[in-house]
Amino acid sequence: MSVTAAKSRIVCTIDFDRNGRQAGYARAPLSRNNSGWGTVEIPIVVVKNGSGPTVLLTGGVHGDEYEGPIAISRLARSLKPEEVQGRVIMMPAVNIPAIMADTRLSPIDGWDINRCFPGNPKGTFSQMLAHFLDSVILPMADISVDMHTAGHSFDSALSTNMHHVADPAIRERTIAAAAAFGAPYNVVFGGVDEDSTFTSCVERRGIVSLGTELGGWGRVNIEGVRIGRRGVDNILKHMGVIEGEPETGQRDGSPKTRHMMVRDPQSYVFSPRGGLFEPTHYVGEEVRAGAVAGYLHFIEDVDSEPLMLTYQKDGIVWFGAGPGRVARGDAVAIIMEDYADDWSGH
Ligand SMILES: [Zn+2]
Repeated sequence: MSVTAAKSRIVCTIDFDRNGRQAGYARAPLSRNNSGWGTVEIPIVVVKNGSGPTVLLTGGVHGDEYEGPIAISRLARSLKPEEVQGRVIMMPAVNIPAIMADTRLSPIDGWDINRCFPGNPKGTFSQMLAHFLDSVILPMADISVDMHTAGHSFDSALSTNMHHVADPAIRERTIAAAAAFGAPYNVVFGGVDEDSTFTSCVERRGIVSLGTELGGWGRVNIEGVRIGRRGVDNILKHMGVIEGEPETGQRDGSPKTRHMMVRDPQSYVFSPRGGLFEPTHYVGEEVRAGAVAGYLHFIEDVDSEPLMLTYQKDGIVWFGAGPGRVARGDAVAIIMEDYADDWSGH
């Protein structure tokens, strides 16, 4: 038996085939010193009516990213079965132990759950949870929207994102879904360490996969929540699950999402040393190759000149202005540029 075919240890009493609204928990076993039969309860709300596509909405895969959990839980409390044609599976707080601890990594095993897919039912807590998502939840979905922000690592320009999927038909469907979501930007990218991410699992199953980056710094971005809440409604409209046309107008007067890409490794600015990083641009600002991305200060050394870091590309800052203290090798900015149809994805 392969790992992904093995039975999940997580118990979910929701009947995903039943019409109506069900709100409950997936119970993940977690044996502790003072509770040998203890469980971690992961919230799930399912709204189903008749036949139609299944939309999967996940938030809180990383525990310090709050806009998605807020947007999805608002929808989960208000969506009525009679408004729905098809099924909506909402998991606003996937990594609930991390959310309660305000951390990206699991406080139980130290893993980034979004780096351990497709997981393992007999592995650590994060691996068990990843396996549950991949083997139990994902096979039901026609489209997955996994809502992230930049956490404590960065701020992010408000955006959806997607891989440059090899299959052109799925790529087109994903771009169409992103356009319907209606964030200011949609970013197509190759990614880092991507084989082990949730997105890669979704794609391996031939399901449309959309991510979001709706803020960062571990705070709640007001506009990020607004875009996220509108976006999940827009996806339901786009999929024909609820009635209506997606609303994609932008605050700057533009009628729709601007499609972007992270073209190559030169799009990243890395810190060559540890230090105190002073960024020069906000996310969403236009920058030029050679312009100053920021200054690395060495406050501990009297009279030490700061080190100047520069961009290698023209474009717009997608990720930037992270924490003040950075380590050698940390990314301090990521540049996006307008999407080109002829881009190969690498
Ligand atoms: Zn994240």
